[in-house]
Amino acid sequence: MAYDYDLIAIGGGSGGIALSNRAASYGARCLIIEKDPEMGGTCVNRGCVPKKAMWYAADMAHALRDAPGYGYDITRNAPFNWSEFVTKRENYISNINKYYVSAFEKNGVDTAYGLAKLVDKNTVEVNGKQYTAERIALAPGGTPTVPNIEGKELAITSDGFFELQSLPEKVLVLGAGYIAVELAGMLQALGADVSLAVRKKTFLREFESVLSERLSEAMQADGVTINTEFTAAKIEQHNGKLRVHGESGQTLDGFDQVIFAIGRTPLTKGIGLQEAGVEVDERGYIPVDKFQQTNVPNIFALGDVTGQAELTPVAIAAGRRMADRIYNNQTDRHLNYENIATVVFSHPPIATIGLTEAQAREQYGDDVNTYEASFNPMYMAFTEHKVKTTMKLVVVGKDERVVGCHMIGLAVDEMMQGFAVAISMGATKKDFDDTVAIHPTSSEELVTMR
Ligand code: NDP
Repeated sequence: MAYDYDLIAIGGGSGGIALSNRAASYGARCLIIEKDPEMGGTCVNRGCVPKKAMWYAADMAHALRDAPGYGYDITRNAPFNWSEFVTKRENYISNINKYYVSAFEKNGVDTAYGLAKLVDKNTVEVNGKQYTAERIALAPGGTPTVPNIEGKELAITSDGFFELQSLPEKVLVLGAGYIAVELAGMLQALGADVSLAVRKKTFLREFESVLSERLSEAMQADGVTINTEFTAAKIEQHNGKLRVHGESGQTLDGFDQVIFAIGRTPLTKGIGLQEAGVEVDERGYIPVDKFQQTNVPNIFALGDVTGQAELTPVAIAAGRRMADRIYNNQTDRHLNYENIATVVFSHPPIATIGLTEAQAREQYGDDVNTYEASFNPMYMAFTEHKVKTTMKLVVVGKDERVVGCHMIGLAVDEMMQGFAVAISMGATKKDFDDTVAIHPTSSEELVTMR
């Protein structure tokens, strides 16, 4: 049967874009469909990119705070023009949106805008028009989760954070993952009075425990109030501000903004999965095999909607590998989801790869050893405000293969990528030790640990 396209990608985010461009480069006829008016998805429009811009702005606030230590006659409270910076940020994003469109034109990828719906396993409908394809890739991404509590409409999510036109004076962030600590850190650095409420005893519980301990100390030293064992049950207006009631009767009061950062929900409803026979799991994610294939052989899924490592570079890597395999005869090409490095853009940042000590002990028992370094980076020698850097290596077996590397501190976000190459290649502690240090840096501590 002749199809309109070789491949239709549903979702113009990181995964769909990478897949379509790579497939088109091998000659596949591709259509990409995006529900929003702009290409780019969450990462570019409401995630990584605007977040990193705000993170740089927040970092600048910390540099201004530290400047007197370096002999600059600067007052800490230099005013930050939120709306001016937001305009610049959005202009930057708009240029990325335009770049995507011109790249599609150059690569010969067709585009359509509107909510796509599968009609059957080879047909997609958008804006009343149907297109057929030999293969379909589902990359619709996710949306911030909002709990079903009274007054939930009074709060915003990360999407709303990026729409703010001014700095809120007093903010409560609810949640315990990447977004919660990133937003709390940025808002505090930029001048807001921030409270964070987690429903357990700490945040980032899936991470190496020393990282959440250090971050908690650093955030509190920066002025963030951390409320533990608080689960929001109701939000209400009170004297022109927001008041949040917890499940156990406590209240947190006086906020200009309340932000939910409690995870993301896959966008799998209303896109015709049932019509095409595509299975979803009980949480709404689409299960796939190592080749990103769903239970329907010509339908694939990638990115956040699969529920595996919900990170932009993961979606991109999965998409490109899929195109390499299907359209360039690289028959076993697929993404290995082990050893994926990740950074939390908190203040200070966290960088991590591989197994935590607890995970390694579960897998390897007593064969596990760890090395840890905790120090004041040289930068702090001259600043009044000090934040320690902590690094931990988790090693396994007689040859001490490094199976985990976990860091928090100044500049660790830029340190991890190179170490990730070594660790993915199976580097041992001896390989680290045999590497000559770069002095004076913080990263040298990673190759001099005893
Ligand atoms: P996460 O999954 O990282 O964390 C959400 C956490 O919130 C949960 O782990 C849970 O922690 C807590 N939580 C869940 N439900 C509730 C609730 N009802 N009330 C209070 N707390 C709750 O989600 P995020 O929204 O932070 O981010 C989504 C994903 O986006 C991340 O997992 C990450 O993959 C990606 N991301 C990556 C970034 C990066 O690479 N720098 C930046 C931002 C996002 P607990 O069980 O401890 O309560």
